[in-house]
Amino acid sequence: MQNYLDKIWNDCLTDLEDTISSVGLDLWIKKIKPINIENDTLMFLAPDEMVSNTVVRGYTKPIIDAISKNFKLSKFDFVLDSNKDEYIQKHNLLEQNKDSLPRAITNEEISENPFNPRYTFSNFVVGTTNRVIYAATRAVAENPGSRFNPLFIYGGVGLGKTHLLHAIGNYIWEANKGQIKIVYVSSETFTNELIAAFRPNSDKGTIEFRKKYRMADVLLVDDIQFIANKKSVQEEFFHTFNDLYQAGKQIIIASDRPPKELSELEERLTSRFASGLVQDIQKPDFETRVMIISKKIELEGYTFEESIIPKLAERLEKFNIREIEGVLNKLDLYAKLHGHFIVDEEVMNEVLSKSHELDESVGRVVTEEKIIDAICNKFNIKREDLFGKKRNKELVEPRQICIYLMWRKLNIPLTAIAKLFNRDHTTAIHARDKVIDLMKEDPEVKKMIDDLEDVIVH
Ligand code: ADP
Ligand code: MG
Repeated sequence: MQNYLDKIWNDCLTDLEDTISSVGLDLWIKKIKPINIENDTLMFLAPDEMVSNTVVRGYTKPIIDAISKNFKLSKFDFVLDSNKDEYIQKHNLLEQNKDSLPRAITNEEISENPFNPRYTFSNFVVGTTNRVIYAATRAVAENPGSRFNPLFIYGGVGLGKTHLLHAIGNYIWEANKGQIKIVYVSSETFTNELIAAFRPNSDKGTIEFRKKYRMADVLLVDDIQFIANKKSVQEEFFHTFNDLYQAGKQIIIASDRPPKELSELEERLTSRFASGLVQDIQKPDFETRVMIISKKIELEGYTFEESIIPKLAERLEKFNIREIEGVLNKLDLYAKLHGHFIVDEEVMNEVLSKSHELDESVGRVVTEEKIIDAICNKFNIKREDLFGKKRNKELVEPRQICIYLMWRKLNIPLTAIAKLFNRDHTTAIHARDKVIDLMKEDPEVKKMIDDLEDVIVH
């Protein structure tokens, strides 16, 4: 299945176009080809030492970035063309060892309920902002495959998408005790498993991979946006999706944006998604926040003074549910550490006045200008260059971070941000996702961006 290594490498090349000049790409990068995966190392075939040495010297960082994103691998190395035959023989590429990558949950192999026991329908607070999606997920759980197929849930982070997928899993599990095969997978895990299964000549892995997904009665796919820029993964997913769909199996997909905004996803996939029920989940309104806060206090066993709940709900206006949980936890901890028996108004005021997350709600305004200034200062670049056309690395990175921060802090759509930079929507999506990935992978980047956020809100 050399084919698949090549396809994923193509996705890497697309990313590398952002960071490496076209001359560099043609002269060096396009001369190497992936040949194998050894543990966490991607092995390339290089024509000679001149090529491998130049690639290592000049392009290690961008290549690592691209392969860690697309292959989930952290290193690369070379096999020279002159040693190719020997290498293939020695590594007996037919008998690749099995991977230790994270695996998707399927109840075929596990006898215990694999779903998060806290993520149930009964722990899910229903308000005006999520009533419709709640009803749809319930209907699907009660009668999988008969209505709303596929069911596509979208909404921002921390609004309950994963919770609902698990709630469906929990419900079906309990009702059928393993009779119905449920497969839950994040699109990241799907990608990792796919890469492992399609290692060169690993035909057995391929068959198992396909079997596992295509045997599902119910397929739950979380965070589908992560496969948006991976053509090879999309293709496999498309076939899985089709097989299941045609067999009348239930498919539920969660995403951070609606199908039509998954612009890097192939048309044939987005139109399939859109053919079922597409339903959003929004930030909770005031009444829902009150109910959520009360429910969380009950579930966690916190002691809060009843009268502060509505006040808190008001102050947490811009918050998603995960952030609300974070604040409640902070309040509880603060009270305990400072000898209060109960979270009361005093504790609330004390904690909230110190909290960065509350910037917006206490009236500090984050503006576009503040973000641009902070970026230009930090990276020592000119404003014209930040918005200009040049694509050297010294500018691309600050530009991407700027796009990310505007998206995160300003509450304006990416399309508007893209316009500001005179670029198209997909570039803005790519920039934002790239920064999110980098922050996950590299604690230093995360710290730098946290520091920038500090500067922006003060
Ligand atoms: P998403 O997948 O949309 O990013 P999650 O499902 O992970 O969000 O939800 C974040 C947190 O908020 C979880 O702890 C979840 O239990 C909680 N949560 C989200 N929506 C609700 C709700 N309606 N009622 C109770 N808890 C919720
Ligand atoms: Mg989630």
